[in-house]
Amino acid sequence: MDLFAVPDLPEIREGDDLAALVSDRVDLRPDDVVCVASTVVSKAEGRTVGLDEFPAGPRAREIAADLEERTGEEKDPRFAQAVLEESTEVIMDAPFLLTETRFGHVGVNAGIDRSNVPDGDLLLLPKRPAASAERLREGLDADRVVVTDTCGRPFRHGQRGVALGWAGMHASRDWRGESDRDGRELGVTVENVVDELAAAANLIAGEGAGGTPVVVVRDFEWGEHAGSDNHFRNVEGDFIRQAIRGWSHDG
Ligand code: GDP
Ligand code: MN
Ligand code: MN
Repeated sequence: MDLFAVPDLPEIREGDDLAALVSDRVDLRPDDVVCVASTVVSKAEGRTVGLDEFPAGPRAREIAADLEERTGEEKDPRFAQAVLEESTEVIMDAPFLLTETRFGHVGVNAGIDRSNVPDGDLLLLPKRPAASAERLREGLDADRVVVTDTCGRPFRHGQRGVALGWAGMHASRDWRGESDRDGRELGVTVENVVDELAAAANLIAGEGAGGTPVVVVRDFEWGEHAGSDNHFRNVEGDFIRQAIRGWSHDG
């Protein structure tokens, strides 16, 4: 397969028709997968906000004061308030804020960004990245869209691209029931393809001033596999999250 960045995209502003801006710059083929950095989706959707829009409540003030004490860095309680308002669960509140966003993604600071944001203080993640992906898909001459973000991971240094939302394809390829080279049946392997494509696209998009938020994946073949759309674990089946909850809320 080939990956390439869509060239010459401008600075994206609220109300911009991202699909049209992309279509003007590249001849898409029907089976392309168009990977779009959430930063520009958020900008187009007007998710740029000022810190003043988040007057801090008691919980946010408490979290910020505690973080300040632990890290020795200045923490704005309004930022903590913004994170709380974007989240349905605080999984850890120290030494950093790890939360579940309203659409099910778990990330540090609810994915709120301060880089590549010229017009305001903060950039929130798209409200419903799956819906954003579907709108982009309808606006583009492409069948498949993935909305990505750069995220850290537990256990490993460094960040990489992950999928926040997708449209026109399943999230995962289900290998269960197929056989390995020795004829043993695969019992658990469900390969998260949208995250893998997001990681590959993120490699091309970069993180800095490159100006390449949209990456086209061409000639990716799904193959003969069943699909699954489970992407974000629910709490009952998420033992790591349960363990973190127990640890951070006891101590
Ligand atoms: P994130 O991974 O979604 O948080 O986005 P990043 O901030 O890492 O940016 C990914 C890529 O998009 C980088 O190449 C940035 O330079 C680029 N980028 C961010 N905002 C814009 C924009 O408004 N216009 C253009 N053309 N590129 C942007
Ligand atoms: Mn981001
Ligand atoms: Mn990034």
